[in-house]
Amino acid sequence: MKRLVVVLGCVVGVVGAYKVATKIHLIQPVDWLAVAHLKKADHLFHGVTVNTAVEDRKDPYWKQAYAEVTKHPSILASTSVPESFPGRIERGNTELKEIALTFDDGPHYPSAHALVQELKSLNLRATFFVVGKMAEKHPELIREEEAAGNEIANHSFSHVNLSKIPEKEVATEYRACNLLLKKILGHQPRFCRPPGGNSDSFVFRAADDNGLSTVLWTNDPSDYANPGEDVILERTLKHLSNGGILLLHEGVKETMSVLPLLTKEIRDRGYKIVTVGQLMRDSAIARQTAVAQLTLPKLSRDR
Ligand SMILES: [Zn+2]
Repeated sequence: MKRLVVVLGCVVGVVGAYKVATKIHLIQPVDWLAVAHLKKADHLFHGVTVNTAVEDRKDPYWKQAYAEVTKHPSILASTSVPESFPGRIERGNTELKEIALTFDDGPHYPSAHALVQELKSLNLRATFFVVGKMAEKHPELIREEEAAGNEIANHSFSHVNLSKIPEKEVATEYRACNLLLKKILGHQPRFCRPPGGNSDSFVFRAADDNGLSTVLWTNDPSDYANPGEDVILERTLKHLSNGGILLLHEGVKETMSVLPLLTKEIRDRGYKIVTVGQLMRDSAIARQTAVAQLTLPKLSRDR
């Protein structure tokens, strides 16, 4: 009994120390979603080239995508999207007083429903970078998000570090999520975001091969680590900038609570809050206008 009390005391102590250390940013919080997936494929960080996880995988969308990527590589190049944007998007036009609102890692049940309702009541639209495996479990949430005017984007199928897996699997991750979202929504997404932002030239090319533009961000308050509502607010407002892209996460309680105040403060500073698609369209228009103004012939008094 005494030994049990000591063990329990140690566990409570370690958990407490971890919480405090993450809160004061002494250590990076663990991304449990990523860890759960990595457990199944722990070759990812050990440089092992034989990929047993590929053979073991049961996910039908992942398997279909892998077969297509492996057997018919030309199929990738033929994928097209309705509008084309630059292959890698780090921000919008800096002349534009707009911020794109993005939510990663969903859909979470049932909090995604509450988030959609909250966005509706705030008259906001956002871009949701969803994980294929999660979307497969709750396709109704994906439909609900889109029906409310939000934009659905690809955050890979399994939420793995794409810069640590073979190129074929990177293409498969994006393609499987595309196939699933096409099945759910009737069309494939235009944008993707690599989990954790982990990317290299292979990751960008795999996105491009699958008809996707890679979207990164300018503003990351690390809300997933539950730093507190005040901290999320302070960090976000500190890094606001024209054409910025704000990275938040679905299923985070503090983010939900602070969202009305956060978006009010952003709007009070004169920014319009939009989806990534809207930001890119407005950025392109602003750029064309600027180019047109530059090329206008200068008027001379002497003429
Ligand atoms: Zn993520």
